[in-house]
Amino acid sequence: AKNEGRNRACIYDAAMDADLSERKQLEHDLREAIANDQLRLVYQPIVNGSGDTILGVEALSRWTHPTRGDIEPSQFIPIAEHSGLIIKLGEWVLRRACTEGKQWPGLSMSVNVSALQFRRPDFVDTVERILRETGFDASCLELEITESTLIGNVDNAETAMHRLKSIGLRLALDDFGTGYSSLAYLRRFPFDKLKIDKSFVRSIERSADAAAIVHAIVGLGRGLGMRVTAEGVETAEQQLFLRAAGVHSMQGYRFGRPGSPNLISARLAMPGSH
Ligand code: C2E
Ligand code: CA
Ligand code: CA
Ligand code: CA
Repeated sequence: AKNEGRNRACIYDAAMDADLSERKQLEHDLREAIANDQLRLVYQPIVNGSGDTILGVEALSRWTHPTRGDIEPSQFIPIAEHSGLIIKLGEWVLRRACTEGKQWPGLSMSVNVSALQFRRPDFVDTVERILRETGFDASCLELEITESTLIGNVDNAETAMHRLKSIGLRLALDDFGTGYSSLAYLRRFPFDKLKIDKSFVRSIERSADAAAIVHAIVGLGRGLGMRVTAEGVETAEQQLFLRAAGVHSMQGYRFGRPGSPNLISARLAMPGSH
């Protein structure tokens, strides 16, 4: 039995080593991908409550690896964060979104910002520089951050957020309801928008609890003067519920999957789409 245990430990270690070298390899490849423009952005429409008007888009990163094919953001974003590559990646994303977004004047552009990126002392300067270099209208830019950005970093985050607001852009709290932050955060930080996490939206129809939580989030957001967006909207029933609940805007496969810039342009060219 003792032997068995030792063997198991060996197998486990070997698996960990394989994982580690696999991650190191991906990290190396990701570094190349960022340097050589092998990443691209896709854009998902954000629509009004009735679903007939595109108000904006969310930029989402995509990586097609030369030999492994498509790798999900849920896989490569953590690698980027772990290795520090997220700083370069995040800057690339912001610049690309502002550059490509210029072809859709008046449309809101939402960009995800990771906690490590946001916490950099030079983050606000970087945003300002990219806006200047690309000529993108700051009032059309919305940065999405998650609660993890705020935890343990309250004073710095508050200062950075006020500086960003003074540049003219907007701030959204992403994945709302999934973290641990206190409601006091909502009062303290100048968020313009709450994004209801898709885990709640998914359960609306079969869970009275999820439905109650969604109602509460909308009431909270509206009461504090924020816009409320629901993400992950897939069905007509979900849309109806959310609209009745008072959500301002929605995003999800029901209104369009993330797509290439050309796809967004084509959508916008359709009569009555915005
Ligand atoms: P997120 O910011 O919450 O983005 C929404 C995710 O939900 C996207 O996944 C989107 O494709 C997916 N989605 C949209 N509509 C639906 C729907 O109706 N049903 C379902 N099941 N999913 C839907 P994606 O593109 O795989 O991105 C996953 C996460 O990776 C994002 O979650 C975000 O946290 C992160 N991410 C993606 N791109 C970037 C980036 O450029 N920078 C940073 N920091 N994070 C990013
Ligand atoms: Ca997001
Ligand atoms: Ca989200
Ligand atoms: Ca997320």
